[in-house]
Amino acid sequence: MPSDLPAYALAPPRSLYVHIPFCESKCSYCAFNSVGREHTPSGQISAYVDALIRELTELRIHQPLETIYIGGGTPSILDRSSWNRLAEAILRHAPLEAKAEWTVEMNPGTLHDAKLRDYRSVGVTRISLGAQSLDPLILRSLERIHSPEDVFRAVDRIVEEGFPSFNLDLIYGLPGQGLQSFESDLDALLALDPPHLALYNLQFEDGTTLSLQRLGGHVEEEREEVQIAMFTSACERTAAHGLLQYEISNFALPGHRARHNEVYWENAPYFGIGAGAWGCVGGVRYRNVCSADRYIKRIEAGESPRDENDVLDRDALFLESLVVMLRHVNGIDKSLMEERFGSGCLDESIPLFQRWIASGWMHWRDGRWALTQAGQLVSDSLFLELLP
Ligand code: SF4
Repeated sequence: MPSDLPAYALAPPRSLYVHIPFCESKCSYCAFNSVGREHTPSGQISAYVDALIRELTELRIHQPLETIYIGGGTPSILDRSSWNRLAEAILRHAPLEAKAEWTVEMNPGTLHDAKLRDYRSVGVTRISLGAQSLDPLILRSLERIHSPEDVFRAVDRIVEEGFPSFNLDLIYGLPGQGLQSFESDLDALLALDPPHLALYNLQFEDGTTLSLQRLGGHVEEEREEVQIAMFTSACERTAAHGLLQYEISNFALPGHRARHNEVYWENAPYFGIGAGAWGCVGGVRYRNVCSADRYIKRIEAGESPRDENDVLDRDALFLESLVVMLRHVNGIDKSLMEERFGSGCLDESIPLFQRWIASGWMHWRDGRWALTQAGQLVSDSLFLELLP
């Protein structure tokens, strides 16, 4: 165990991420660790859930967890029997605090009333729904399996089922989207009164169908000035609905921030289980083997599913903390960083921060450095400047 790490990095994790790497079919822009049903052998999902349960059991979690996030892939692809086995294992082997947040990601095309009831009845508190767009042509071009009507129906059911919170994902900067259509989608989603909205800028990831289509000249990236206009408009429209931006891509009503994701932005430890899942425990950041098949085989053979085990380095952890904290509106808390990494730890960064402040990209307020909206728009290049 690395001994020179700050105590917070060695504290027992209070969060658990569970990865479900299966989808009905692969979306054209998706580079997540997931496979479509056509590449999933019969019986594999059930065997995968058995493996997840075994990995979870072997974590021997004693401390009560504050958050659980079941993501993917498409967790809502699990049939009721697989879900019930997984949920039972979580309730048995992952003790939850009384006010724990438990999120399940859902694709509107996999909505199933009985599944939603199952989630709620075991204590799921939050559904994260991948709406992505409300334009039928765009949804089709992205190879999403749902229609705009599926999104509306899913939100109705989530609200009727009484989940304390839910999130809607929306993508901007899609080929052929245009500012007007984006704004009209956003307005329609905001009219559903979501307590939380996550707004993602489309990335052309290597190896995706969409990226190939761009290389072949069949689709074009949205112009940068349009993407900036979309982001700026989204910040205004969400604020008008009382959804406050608390991270570059995330907006929430008071009391509805995604607590699980805040663990990542604090660079705090967490458990991760499942194929391709990352975790960070005891000063080691690990990643499980990505293939569901190899994951199952390793667990069945009693072997560790971990493919990468990086012992955290104090300097690298410090820099990572700066980057993830700058994504959050709370920014970099000077006292907190000094408590964690020692007094004077920010001395070398301050001249850079002063330059950013002079450029209008950062502000210094109440003992914190945080990005302005102008800084958020160029955050990727700012983060590169922070790294050695
Ligand atoms: S549903 Fe989500 S995880 Fe699955 S392929 Fe589409 S974008 Fe990727």
